[in-house]
Amino acid sequence: MHEIFNTNITYLKGVGPKKAELLRKELGILYYIDLLYYFPFRYVDKSQIYKVKDVINDTTYFFLKGKVRNIKAVGEKRTKYITADFTDDTGTIQLIWFRGLQWIKSYFVLDKEYKLFGKPSEFKKRFNFVHPEMEEVVPGENDVVGGSLEGIYHSTEKLKSTGLGSRGIAKLMRNLLNIVEHYITETLPDYLLKAENLTGLRIALLNIHFPKNSSIIRKVEYRLKFDELLYVQLRLLLQKSYLKQKVKGHVFDRVGDTFNTFYKDYLPFELTGAQKRVIKEIRNDLNTGRQMNRLLQGDVGSGKTLVALMSMLIAIDNGYQAALMAPTGILASQHYQTLKKILGDMPVNVDLLTGSTKKARRKVLHESLRSGELHILIGTHALIEETVRFENLGLVVIDEQHRFGVAQRARLWKKNRIPPHILVMTATPIPRTLAMTLYGNLDVSVIDELPPGRKAIKTIHFFESKRLRVIGFMKDEIKRGQQVYVVYPLIKESENFDLKNLMDGYENMLRDFPEPEYQVSVMHGRMKTEDKEYEMKRFVDGITNIMVSTTVIEVGVDVSNASVMVIENAERFGLSQLHQLRGRVGRGAKQSWCILMSGNKLSNEGRKRLEIMVQTNNGFEIAEADLKLRGPGDIQGTKQSGLLDFKIANLARDGLIIERTHKIAENVLSTDPILSLSQNLPLRNELRRQLKNNPNWARIS
Ligand code: ADP
Ligand code: MG
Repeated sequence: MHEIFNTNITYLKGVGPKKAELLRKELGILYYIDLLYYFPFRYVDKSQIYKVKDVINDTTYFFLKGKVRNIKAVGEKRTKYITADFTDDTGTIQLIWFRGLQWIKSYFVLDKEYKLFGKPSEFKKRFNFVHPEMEEVVPGENDVVGGSLEGIYHSTEKLKSTGLGSRGIAKLMRNLLNIVEHYITETLPDYLLKAENLTGLRIALLNIHFPKNSSIIRKVEYRLKFDELLYVQLRLLLQKSYLKQKVKGHVFDRVGDTFNTFYKDYLPFELTGAQKRVIKEIRNDLNTGRQMNRLLQGDVGSGKTLVALMSMLIAIDNGYQAALMAPTGILASQHYQTLKKILGDMPVNVDLLTGSTKKARRKVLHESLRSGELHILIGTHALIEETVRFENLGLVVIDEQHRFGVAQRARLWKKNRIPPHILVMTATPIPRTLAMTLYGNLDVSVIDELPPGRKAIKTIHFFESKRLRVIGFMKDEIKRGQQVYVVYPLIKESENFDLKNLMDGYENMLRDFPEPEYQVSVMHGRMKTEDKEYEMKRFVDGITNIMVSTTVIEVGVDVSNASVMVIENAERFGLSQLHQLRGRVGRGAKQSWCILMSGNKLSNEGRKRLEIMVQTNNGFEIAEADLKLRGPGDIQGTKQSGLLDFKIANLARDGLIIERTHKIAENVLSTDPILSLSQNLPLRNELRRQLKNNPNWARIS
């Protein structure tokens, strides 16, 4: 790409240092290239001049032509604002400004005609325009210059007040394109443009900003999305093959006594087909001599723990140690109990290290780790503290990976000269296309089958008014010997309020389920770790009938006797969280229930979420729905990675383009693994440019 694109935006006609600073702060635009790739988010038809009487909704933008009268200040000092009447031959509509009062008063000339552009707002059943963009009508000037469609750019209040509203930005874009148009070089190889029937880059960039006609918009949008997504795929696949080629891994070429004995004599049940397949995939990875970086996706309850254990046994058979890292102390200690139980009297040494492990215990543990006597260490973040040294760490399994940051994972690498193999397990299903983009540099295994004999959990939504019925139902289940979870939302911003909510709920429970007939546990994040563990143990051991808690029990906890999950204020939870919570029941052979309690008033989105939960138990379907409802921006851990900062592509909507570009990237790299063929030179150049500008990309894994 020509160096002109790296010109600082200050030097563009119409910008200057002050606006440049604002553009940087508000929109992250520093250089010409950044502005060039700042795209409109929609278009309006300029040729269509509306009348005041047509302003009957607040969902679209309008162009009006008329006169401005009755400008006056309303209110006192700080609440002061300006109103004016905007009139054409069909009526009058109010204009409002909260800033720039002096300027507005002096700007408008009575009886001159103005063009107004803006999106109306509704106030007390009437429409008005707040901070509309206004322009004088110059007699004889053609309104429609070039095409009749005008791109609308996102702007901010601060930018608007310096004249950089949508139209202001469009003017800068004009200036920019005049200068750089002829320096735009194609970023895709000729053969791809032809095969995929794509518009050239120059045409695409010109028309995305100033479309010739409406039919070209879709085509150039497609081209630019394709571009953006193809480079993401190329980058991820190159990273993956780099890891495969360059990063040495321990060779686990034996499946020995430990694994075989376990398989023959200790396995508590027949493995599901999916579990078998995944274990095979992992085994193959482990003896290639390259570091394994595998993501294991499996819906809640699909039996990932067993896969983790059997992978760790392979490590042990090859003379290595293994670690299993969980996001919370409760979960770590539950993993510990589970593995101890499954392993029985097998000669495998397992230990637990969490934040609450006492100093004396720690010392012993550290020693047995360093001597190699300890085979499997289970724990929380405590595992990656500097003081924890393994004799020979060969495999790390990370459970519920969303809670671990990239940096934390990187620290694991330092635990050995040759990095350990990494198996990341997640129960938050990720839609396929999103996984392709987020984890395109990892290998992915999927457990897409639940253990046999499970009954599908039945989900019902009740409004608050049906609480008595729900209580009666809970009592019936408890009578049958089952246990119940009751979960309250916890939202950080109002922790005190949430805690009160939880404790009120707990007290109500104590009233509705009095001792000694019933025993109720309570658990929340503010409790000491020991207390949490104590309460959890009472529930696991079946001493308490009901566990009232916040979402601290969200991940992983496995109490197969619990058959009812009541979620309070269910409308306040996100879909994937609801699904995780529901996954805490349905683990035994009995019929399980998930009861979603909500207030009578629901937002559209809240209602939709509850409906989806009632309709399906399938985590992947829920993940797809979630992506559509929320967009990809909220998916944990992706925001700070910058991975989802797309200029034009939309992970929720562009699944087909993602699949297409993924396939093409695979094809290209299979014939030209390092992009050395001359036909792929454009790909090589552009990729290099992008990597130089985004140092973060190299490190994400
Ligand atoms: P998750 O994938 O959510 O971590 P777990 O590993 O906790 O699931 O397994 C859920 C439950 O299913 C556990 O009680 C486990 O013992 C049981 N389980 C796992 N694999 C099988 C199997 N192949 N057959 C029967 N039950 C199984
Ligand atoms: Mg689990």
